[in-house]
Amino acid sequence: MYKLNAEESSIIDMVRQFAESEVRPIAQKGDDMDEFPLEVIEKMKELGFFGLTIPEEYGGSNISSMAYANVFEELSFVWMTAAGVLGTHSLMANVITNFGTEEQKKEYLPKMAIGEKWGALGLTEPHAGSDVQNIKTTAVRKGDTYVLNGAKTFITNASYGNLLLVLAKTDPKAVPGGKGISAFIVEKGTPGYIITNKMEKLGYRGLDTSEIVFENCEVPAENLVGLEEGQGFIQVMAGLEVGRINVASRAVGVARAAFEQSVRYAQERKTFGKPIAQHQAIQLMLADMYTSIQASRHLVVAAAEKKDRGERCDLEAGMAKLFASETCATVTMNAMRIHGGYGYSKEFPVERYYRDAPLMIIGEGTSEIQRLVIAKNLMKKYEI
Ligand SMILES: Cc1cc2nc3c(=O)[nH]c(=O)nc-3n(C[C@H](O)[C@H](O)[C@H](O)COP(=O)(O)OP(=O)(O)OC[C@H]3O[C@@H](n4cnc5c(N)ncnc54)[C@H](O)[C@@H]3O)c2cc1C
Repeated sequence: MYKLNAEESSIIDMVRQFAESEVRPIAQKGDDMDEFPLEVIEKMKELGFFGLTIPEEYGGSNISSMAYANVFEELSFVWMTAAGVLGTHSLMANVITNFGTEEQKKEYLPKMAIGEKWGALGLTEPHAGSDVQNIKTTAVRKGDTYVLNGAKTFITNASYGNLLLVLAKTDPKAVPGGKGISAFIVEKGTPGYIITNKMEKLGYRGLDTSEIVFENCEVPAENLVGLEEGQGFIQVMAGLEVGRINVASRAVGVARAAFEQSVRYAQERKTFGKPIAQHQAIQLMLADMYTSIQASRHLVVAAAEKKDRGERCDLEAGMAKLFASETCATVTMNAMRIHGGYGYSKEFPVERYYRDAPLMIIGEGTSEIQRLVIAKNLMKKYEI
Protein backbone atom coordinates (compact mmCIF):
# COMPACT_ATOMS: atom_id res chain seq x y z
CA MET A 1 0.00 0.00 0.00
CA TYR A 2 2.90 2.37 0.75
CA LYS A 3 6.65 2.07 0.72
CA LEU A 4 9.00 2.77 3.58
CA ASN A 5 12.71 3.14 2.86
CA ALA A 6 15.00 0.21 3.72
CA GLU A 7 16.16 1.73 6.99
CA GLU A 8 12.59 2.41 8.15
CA SER A 9 11.48 -1.08 7.12
CA SER A 10 14.22 -2.61 9.24
CA ILE A 11 13.17 -0.42 12.20
CA ILE A 12 9.59 -1.67 11.85
CA ASP A 13 10.84 -5.28 11.70
CA MET A 14 12.83 -4.66 14.86
CA VAL A 15 9.80 -3.12 16.60
CA ARG A 16 7.60 -6.05 15.54
CA GLN A 17 10.15 -8.52 16.86
CA PHE A 18 10.55 -6.58 20.11
CA ALA A 19 6.78 -6.47 20.60
CA GLU A 20 6.49 -10.24 20.12
CA SER A 21 9.49 -11.25 22.22
CA GLU A 22 9.47 -8.64 25.00
CA VAL A 23 5.96 -7.22 25.23
CA ARG A 24 3.69 -10.18 24.48
CA PRO A 25 4.96 -12.25 27.44
CA ILE A 26 4.23 -9.42 29.90
CA ALA A 27 1.03 -8.00 28.40
CA GLN A 28 -1.65 -9.96 30.22
CA LYS A 29 0.05 -9.90 33.62
CA GLY A 30 0.97 -6.23 33.18
CA ASP A 31 -2.66 -5.43 32.46
CA ASP A 32 -3.84 -7.44 35.49
CA MET A 33 -1.27 -5.85 37.82
CA ASP A 34 -1.53 -2.39 36.22
CA GLU A 35 2.24 -2.39 35.74
CA PHE A 36 4.58 -2.03 32.78
CA PRO A 37 7.96 -3.50 33.81
CA LEU A 38 10.67 -0.86 33.97
CA GLU A 39 13.26 -3.28 32.56
CA VAL A 40 11.25 -3.47 29.32
CA ILE A 41 11.21 0.32 29.19
CA GLU A 42 15.00 0.27 29.63
CA LYS A 43 15.24 -2.03 26.60
CA MET A 44 13.07 0.38 24.62
CA LYS A 45 15.53 3.13 25.50
CA GLU A 46 18.54 1.01 24.48
CA LEU A 47 16.93 0.17 21.14
CA GLY A 48 16.39 3.86 20.40
CA PHE A 49 12.57 3.88 20.63
CA PHE A 50 12.55 7.16 22.58
CA GLY A 51 14.41 8.99 19.80
CA LEU A 52 12.57 7.67 16.76
CA THR A 53 11.05 11.04 15.82
CA ILE A 54 13.86 13.28 17.09
CA PRO A 55 16.13 14.87 14.42
CA GLU A 56 19.45 13.09 13.86
CA GLU A 57 21.48 16.17 14.82
CA TYR A 58 20.00 15.84 18.33
CA GLY A 59 20.66 12.12 18.61
CA GLY A 60 17.43 10.67 17.21
CA SER A 61 16.67 8.71 14.05
CA ASN A 62 14.05 11.10 12.65
CA ILE A 63 11.81 8.53 10.98
CA SER A 64 8.85 9.67 8.88
CA SER A 65 5.30 10.07 10.22
CA MET A 66 4.36 7.06 8.13
CA ALA A 67 7.03 4.88 9.72
CA TYR A 68 6.14 6.12 13.19
CA ALA A 69 2.48 5.25 12.55
CA ASN A 70 3.68 1.72 11.77
CA VAL A 71 5.62 1.61 15.04
CA PHE A 72 2.44 2.50 16.93
CA GLU A 73 0.39 -0.08 15.05
CA GLU A 74 2.90 -2.88 15.74
CA LEU A 75 3.25 -2.09 19.45
CA SER A 76 -0.51 -1.74 19.92
CA PHE A 77 -1.13 -4.98 18.04
CA VAL A 78 0.51 -6.66 21.03
CA TRP A 79 -0.34 -4.27 23.90
CA MET A 80 -1.51 -0.71 23.43
CA THR A 81 0.19 0.36 26.63
CA ALA A 82 3.61 -0.18 24.98
CA ALA A 83 2.73 2.55 22.47
CA GLY A 84 1.55 4.72 25.37
CA VAL A 85 5.10 4.70 26.78
CA LEU A 86 6.10 6.78 23.74
CA GLY A 87 2.91 8.70 22.89
CA THR A 88 3.09 11.96 24.79
CA HIS A 89 6.92 11.73 24.95
CA SER A 90 7.12 12.01 21.16
CA LEU A 91 4.48 14.74 21.14
CA MET A 92 6.55 16.81 23.55
CA ALA A 93 9.67 16.17 21.44
CA ASN A 94 7.74 17.30 18.38
CA VAL A 95 6.77 20.60 20.04
CA ILE A 96 10.35 21.30 21.18
CA THR A 97 11.71 20.38 17.73
CA ASN A 98 9.30 22.66 15.88
CA PHE A 99 8.99 25.57 18.29
CA GLY A 100 11.84 25.41 20.81
CA THR A 101 14.86 27.70 20.72
CA GLU A 102 18.22 26.23 19.69
CA GLU A 103 19.25 26.17 23.37
CA GLN A 104 16.08 24.29 24.34
CA LYS A 105 16.63 21.75 21.56
CA LYS A 106 20.27 21.21 22.55
CA GLU A 107 19.38 20.91 26.21
CA TYR A 108 16.42 18.52 25.98
CA LEU A 109 16.25 16.62 22.69
CA PRO A 110 19.48 14.56 23.09
CA LYS A 111 18.37 13.53 26.59
CA MET A 112 14.87 12.70 25.34
CA ALA A 113 16.34 10.66 22.45
CA ILE A 114 18.01 8.24 24.87
CA GLY A 115 15.15 8.27 27.36
CA GLU A 116 17.16 9.98 30.09
CA LYS A 117 14.33 12.48 29.92
CA TRP A 118 10.92 10.86 29.50
CA GLY A 119 8.39 13.44 28.38
CA ALA A 120 4.71 13.83 29.24
CA LEU A 121 2.02 16.32 28.34
CA GLY A 122 0.03 18.46 30.79
CA LEU A 123 -2.99 20.02 29.11
CA THR A 124 -6.09 18.63 30.79
CA GLU A 125 -7.42 20.12 34.04
CA PRO A 126 -10.20 18.87 36.29
CA HIS A 127 -12.72 21.26 34.70
CA ALA A 128 -11.31 21.46 31.14
CA GLY A 129 -10.31 18.68 28.71
CA SER A 130 -11.83 19.35 25.29
CA ASP A 131 -12.04 23.03 26.18
CA VAL A 132 -8.28 23.52 26.55
CA GLN A 133 -8.53 27.27 26.01
CA ASN A 134 -10.41 27.44 29.30
CA ILE A 135 -7.57 26.12 31.51
CA LYS A 136 -6.95 27.91 34.80
CA THR A 137 -3.31 27.07 35.59
CA THR A 138 -1.40 30.34 35.65
CA ALA A 139 2.23 31.25 35.02
CA VAL A 140 3.25 34.61 36.43
CA ARG A 141 6.61 36.14 35.53
CA LYS A 142 8.85 36.81 38.55
CA GLY A 143 12.36 37.94 37.62
CA ASP A 144 14.09 35.08 35.78
CA THR A 145 11.31 32.61 36.50
CA TYR A 146 7.62 31.93 35.94
CA VAL A 147 5.59 30.85 38.97
CA LEU A 148 3.07 28.12 38.12
CA ASN A 149 -0.11 27.52 40.13
CA GLY A 150 -2.92 25.13 39.21
CA ALA A 151 -3.84 21.48 38.73
CA LYS A 152 -3.61 19.02 35.85
CA THR A 153 -5.40 15.70 35.61
CA PHE A 154 -5.28 12.50 33.52
CA ILE A 155 -1.57 12.99 32.89
CA THR A 156 -0.08 9.89 31.28
CA ASN A 157 3.41 8.97 32.53
CA ALA A 158 3.16 11.68 35.20
CA SER A 159 5.10 9.78 37.82
CA TYR A 160 7.41 7.61 35.67
CA GLY A 161 8.14 10.46 33.26
CA ASN A 162 10.45 13.25 34.39
CA LEU A 163 9.79 16.09 31.97
CA LEU A 164 6.42 17.72 31.45
CA LEU A 165 5.20 20.09 28.79
CA VAL A 166 2.72 22.26 30.67
CA LEU A 167 0.15 24.65 29.23
CA ALA A 168 -0.51 27.61 31.52
CA LYS A 169 -2.06 31.05 31.18
CA THR A 170 0.40 33.91 31.05
CA ASP A 171 -2.49 36.23 30.18
CA PRO A 172 -5.70 34.94 31.83
CA LYS A 173 -7.73 37.84 30.40
CA ALA A 174 -6.87 37.16 26.74
CA VAL A 175 -9.80 36.53 24.37
CA PRO A 176 -10.01 33.94 22.96
CA GLY A 177 -8.38 32.12 25.88
CA GLY A 178 -5.84 30.34 23.66
CA LYS A 179 -4.06 33.64 22.97
CA GLY A 180 -3.06 33.86 26.62
CA ILE A 181 -1.67 30.30 26.85
CA SER A 182 2.05 29.54 26.94
CA ALA A 183 3.92 26.22 27.00
CA PHE A 184 6.61 25.45 29.59
CA ILE A 185 9.14 22.66 29.93
CA VAL A 186 8.98 21.62 33.57
CA GLU A 187 11.36 19.15 35.21
CA LYS A 188 10.00 16.66 37.69
CA GLY A 189 11.52 17.41 41.08
CA THR A 190 11.09 21.15 40.75
CA PRO A 191 9.81 22.36 44.16
CA GLY A 192 6.04 22.85 44.03
CA TYR A 193 5.55 20.14 41.34
CA ILE A 194 3.40 17.64 43.23
CA ILE A 195 2.16 14.36 41.80
CA THR A 196 -0.97 13.54 43.73
CA ASN A 197 -3.40 10.83 42.80
CA LYS A 198 -2.71 7.82 40.55
CA MET A 199 -6.00 7.11 38.77
CA GLU A 200 -7.62 3.67 38.44
CA LYS A 201 -8.63 2.98 34.85
CA LEU A 202 -10.77 0.61 32.77
CA GLY A 203 -7.99 -0.03 30.24
CA TYR A 204 -4.64 1.37 29.09
CA ARG A 205 -3.38 -0.26 32.22
CA GLY A 206 0.29 -0.49 33.12
CA LEU A 207 0.94 3.20 32.56
CA ASP A 208 0.39 5.66 35.35
CA THR A 209 -2.22 8.32 34.74
CA SER A 210 -2.06 10.84 37.56
CA GLU A 211 -2.97 14.27 38.79
CA ILE A 212 -0.34 16.95 39.18
CA VAL A 213 -0.64 20.07 41.30
CA PHE A 214 1.56 23.14 40.91
CA GLU A 215 1.99 25.14 44.10
CA ASN A 216 4.17 28.19 43.54
CA CYS A 217 6.29 26.05 41.23
CA GLU A 218 9.13 28.25 39.92
CA VAL A 219 10.22 27.39 36.40
CA PRO A 220 13.21 29.15 34.76
CA ALA A 221 12.00 31.72 32.22
CA GLU A 222 14.31 30.08 29.68
CA ASN A 223 11.94 27.05 29.76
CA LEU A 224 9.13 28.97 28.05
CA VAL A 225 8.93 27.16 24.69
CA GLY A 226 10.28 29.44 21.97
CA LEU A 227 10.72 32.19 24.59
CA GLU A 228 7.48 33.74 23.36
CA GLU A 229 4.35 34.09 25.50
CA GLY A 230 0.90 33.33 24.06
CA GLN A 231 2.10 30.68 21.58
CA GLY A 232 1.52 27.55 23.65
CA PHE A 233 -1.95 26.68 22.38
CA ILE A 234 -0.88 26.92 18.72
CA GLN A 235 2.32 24.95 19.41
CA VAL A 236 0.52 22.09 21.10
CA MET A 237 -2.34 21.97 18.57
CA ALA A 238 0.26 21.54 15.80
CA GLY A 239 1.77 18.67 17.80
CA LEU A 240 -1.65 17.08 18.33
CA GLU A 241 -2.01 16.72 14.57
CA VAL A 242 0.79 14.13 14.66
CA GLY A 243 -0.56 12.72 17.94
CA ARG A 244 -3.88 12.01 16.22
CA ILE A 245 -2.19 10.02 13.47
CA ASN A 246 -0.51 7.97 16.19
CA VAL A 247 -3.75 7.38 18.10
CA ALA A 248 -5.41 6.27 14.85
CA SER A 249 -2.52 3.83 14.29
CA ARG A 250 -2.92 2.48 17.81
CA ALA A 251 -6.58 1.88 17.03
CA VAL A 252 -5.64 0.03 13.83
CA GLY A 253 -3.20 -2.15 15.84
CA VAL A 254 -5.73 -3.08 18.54
CA ALA A 255 -8.49 -3.68 15.97
CA ARG A 256 -6.19 -5.89 13.87
CA ALA A 257 -5.29 -7.92 16.96
CA ALA A 258 -9.00 -8.39 17.78
CA PHE A 259 -9.77 -9.34 14.16
CA GLU A 260 -6.93 -11.87 13.82
CA GLN A 261 -7.87 -13.51 17.11
CA SER A 262 -11.50 -13.67 15.91
CA VAL A 263 -10.83 -15.08 12.47
CA ARG A 264 -8.74 -17.85 14.08
CA TYR A 265 -11.28 -18.61 16.77
CA ALA A 266 -14.16 -18.65 14.28
CA GLN A 267 -12.49 -21.50 12.38
CA GLU A 268 -11.85 -23.52 15.55
CA ARG A 269 -15.09 -23.10 17.48
CA LYS A 270 -17.89 -25.35 16.34
CA THR A 271 -21.64 -24.98 16.91
CA PHE A 272 -24.45 -26.95 15.32
CA GLY A 273 -21.95 -29.29 13.68
CA LYS A 274 -19.72 -26.78 11.92
CA PRO A 275 -17.15 -24.07 12.63
CA ILE A 276 -18.89 -20.80 13.46
CA ALA A 277 -16.89 -19.25 10.55
CA GLN A 278 -19.30 -21.14 8.30
CA HIS A 279 -22.34 -19.39 9.74
CA GLN A 280 -23.16 -16.45 7.53
CA ALA A 281 -23.83 -14.16 10.50
CA ILE A 282 -20.21 -14.59 11.64
CA GLN A 283 -18.89 -14.17 8.10
CA LEU A 284 -20.70 -10.87 7.75
CA MET A 285 -19.14 -9.64 10.99
CA LEU A 286 -15.63 -10.71 9.90
CA ALA A 287 -16.09 -9.04 6.51
CA ASP A 288 -17.17 -5.75 8.08
CA MET A 289 -14.37 -5.88 10.64
CA TYR A 290 -11.62 -6.40 8.06
CA THR A 291 -13.04 -3.83 5.63
CA SER A 292 -13.24 -1.11 8.25
CA ILE A 293 -9.72 -1.86 9.55
CA GLN A 294 -8.31 -1.58 6.03
CA ALA A 295 -10.24 1.66 5.47
CA SER A 296 -8.83 3.02 8.74
CA ARG A 297 -5.30 2.24 7.63
CA HIS A 298 -5.88 4.05 4.31
CA LEU A 299 -6.96 7.14 6.26
CA VAL A 300 -3.84 6.92 8.44
CA VAL A 301 -1.68 6.66 5.32
CA ALA A 302 -3.36 9.68 3.71
CA ALA A 303 -2.73 11.78 6.82
CA ALA A 304 0.87 10.59 7.33
CA GLU A 305 1.75 11.09 3.66
CA LYS A 306 0.50 14.66 3.79
CA LYS A 307 2.44 15.30 7.00
CA ASP A 308 5.59 13.84 5.43
CA ARG A 309 5.16 16.23 2.48
CA GLY A 310 5.52 19.03 5.03
CA GLU A 311 1.86 20.09 4.86
CA ARG A 312 -0.64 20.58 7.70
CA CYS A 313 -2.99 17.58 7.84
CA ASP A 314 -5.60 18.51 10.48
CA LEU A 315 -8.46 17.35 8.24
CA GLU A 316 -6.84 14.04 7.33
CA ALA A 317 -5.54 13.33 10.87
CA GLY A 318 -8.98 14.17 12.30
CA MET A 319 -10.70 11.80 9.88
CA ALA A 320 -8.18 9.03 10.54
CA LYS A 321 -8.50 9.38 14.30
CA LEU A 322 -12.30 9.54 14.22
CA PHE A 323 -12.80 6.60 11.88
CA ALA A 324 -10.06 4.34 13.25
CA SER A 325 -11.01 4.81 16.91
CA GLU A 326 -14.73 4.23 16.28
CA THR A 327 -13.79 1.22 14.12
CA CYS A 328 -11.64 -0.15 16.91
CA ALA A 329 -14.52 0.10 19.38
CA THR A 330 -16.88 -1.73 16.99
CA VAL A 331 -14.34 -4.37 15.99
CA THR A 332 -13.38 -5.20 19.58
CA MET A 333 -17.08 -5.48 20.49
CA ASN A 334 -17.65 -7.81 17.54
CA ALA A 335 -14.59 -9.84 18.54
CA MET A 336 -16.28 -10.35 21.88
CA ARG A 337 -19.54 -11.42 20.20
CA ILE A 338 -17.63 -13.93 18.07
CA HIS A 339 -15.95 -15.39 21.16
CA GLY A 340 -19.25 -15.74 23.00
CA GLY A 341 -18.73 -16.26 26.74
CA TYR A 342 -14.99 -16.77 26.27
CA GLY A 343 -14.71 -13.21 24.98
CA TYR A 344 -15.88 -11.99 28.35
CA SER A 345 -13.37 -14.15 30.22
CA LYS A 346 -9.67 -13.52 30.76
CA GLU A 347 -8.83 -16.72 28.89
CA PHE A 348 -8.50 -14.70 25.67
CA PRO A 349 -7.04 -11.21 25.17
CA VAL A 350 -10.27 -10.02 23.58
CA GLU A 351 -11.61 -8.51 26.81
CA ARG A 352 -8.39 -6.46 27.11
CA TYR A 353 -8.76 -5.15 23.55
CA TYR A 354 -12.36 -4.23 24.36
CA ARG A 355 -11.28 -2.29 27.49
CA ASP A 356 -8.39 -0.56 25.69
CA ALA A 357 -10.48 0.61 22.71
CA PRO A 358 -12.49 3.49 24.28
CA LEU A 359 -9.38 5.49 25.16
CA MET A 360 -8.75 6.01 21.45
CA ILE A 361 -12.18 7.67 21.22
CA ILE A 362 -11.33 10.03 24.10
CA GLY A 363 -7.59 10.82 24.10
CA GLU A 364 -6.10 13.67 22.04
CA GLY A 365 -9.58 14.96 21.26
CA THR A 366 -12.85 13.02 21.51
CA SER A 367 -14.79 11.89 18.44
CA GLU A 368 -17.08 14.89 18.82
CA ILE A 369 -14.07 17.23 18.81
CA GLN A 370 -12.64 15.44 15.75
CA ARG A 371 -15.93 16.02 13.94
CA LEU A 372 -15.69 19.73 14.80
CA VAL A 373 -12.08 19.84 13.53
CA ILE A 374 -13.11 18.05 10.33
CA ALA A 375 -16.09 20.37 9.78
CA LYS A 376 -13.98 23.49 10.41
CA ASN A 377 -11.44 22.35 7.82
CA LEU A 378 -14.19 21.47 5.35
CA MET A 379 -15.60 25.00 5.65
CA LYS A 380 -12.15 26.32 4.71
CA LYS A 381 -11.68 23.83 1.90
CA TYR A 382 -15.12 24.47 0.35
CA GLU A 383 -15.45 28.16 1.19
CA ILE A 384 -17.62 30.01 -1.32
C1 LIG B 1 -6.33 7.27 30.04
C2 LIG B 1 -6.26 8.74 29.70
C3 LIG B 1 -5.03 9.33 29.47
C4 LIG B 1 -4.95 10.70 29.23
N1 LIG B 1 -3.72 11.28 29.08
C5 LIG B 1 -3.63 12.63 29.00
C6 LIG B 1 -2.35 13.27 29.01
O1 LIG B 1 -1.31 12.63 29.03
N2 LIG B 1 -2.31 14.63 29.02
C7 LIG B 1 -3.45 15.39 28.98
O2 LIG B 1 -3.34 16.62 29.00
N3 LIG B 1 -4.69 14.81 28.96
C8 LIG B 1 -4.79 13.45 28.97
N4 LIG B 1 -6.04 12.85 28.97
C9 LIG B 1 -7.22 13.68 28.97
C10 LIG B 1 -7.99 13.64 27.66
O3 LIG B 1 -7.28 14.34 26.66
C11 LIG B 1 -9.37 14.25 27.94
O4 LIG B 1 -10.05 13.33 28.78
C12 LIG B 1 -10.15 14.48 26.67
O5 LIG B 1 -9.59 15.53 25.91
C13 LIG B 1 -11.63 14.83 26.96
O6 LIG B 1 -11.72 15.84 27.91
P1 LIG B 1 -12.68 15.67 29.20
O7 LIG B 1 -12.38 14.34 29.79
O8 LIG B 1 -12.53 16.87 30.05
O9 LIG B 1 -14.14 15.60 28.60
P2 LIG B 1 -15.07 16.87 28.30
O10 LIG B 1 -14.30 17.88 27.54
O11 LIG B 1 -15.73 17.29 29.54
O12 LIG B 1 -16.14 16.22 27.33
C14 LIG B 1 -17.27 15.46 27.81
C15 LIG B 1 -18.13 15.10 26.62
O13 LIG B 1 -18.62 16.28 25.97
C16 LIG B 1 -18.25 16.26 24.59
N5 LIG B 1 -17.98 17.62 24.16
C17 LIG B 1 -17.15 18.52 24.74
N6 LIG B 1 -17.16 19.67 24.06
C18 LIG B 1 -17.99 19.49 23.00
C19 LIG B 1 -18.42 20.31 21.91
N7 LIG B 1 -17.95 21.55 21.73
N8 LIG B 1 -19.31 19.79 21.03
C20 LIG B 1 -19.77 18.53 21.18
N9 LIG B 1 -19.41 17.73 22.18
C21 LIG B 1 -18.53 18.18 23.07
C22 LIG B 1 -17.03 15.38 24.52
O14 LIG B 1 -16.84 14.86 23.21
C23 LIG B 1 -17.38 14.31 25.53
O15 LIG B 1 -18.26 13.39 24.94
C24 LIG B 1 -6.13 11.47 29.15
C25 LIG B 1 -7.38 10.85 29.33
C26 LIG B 1 -7.45 9.51 29.61
C27 LIG B 1 -8.79 8.87 29.82
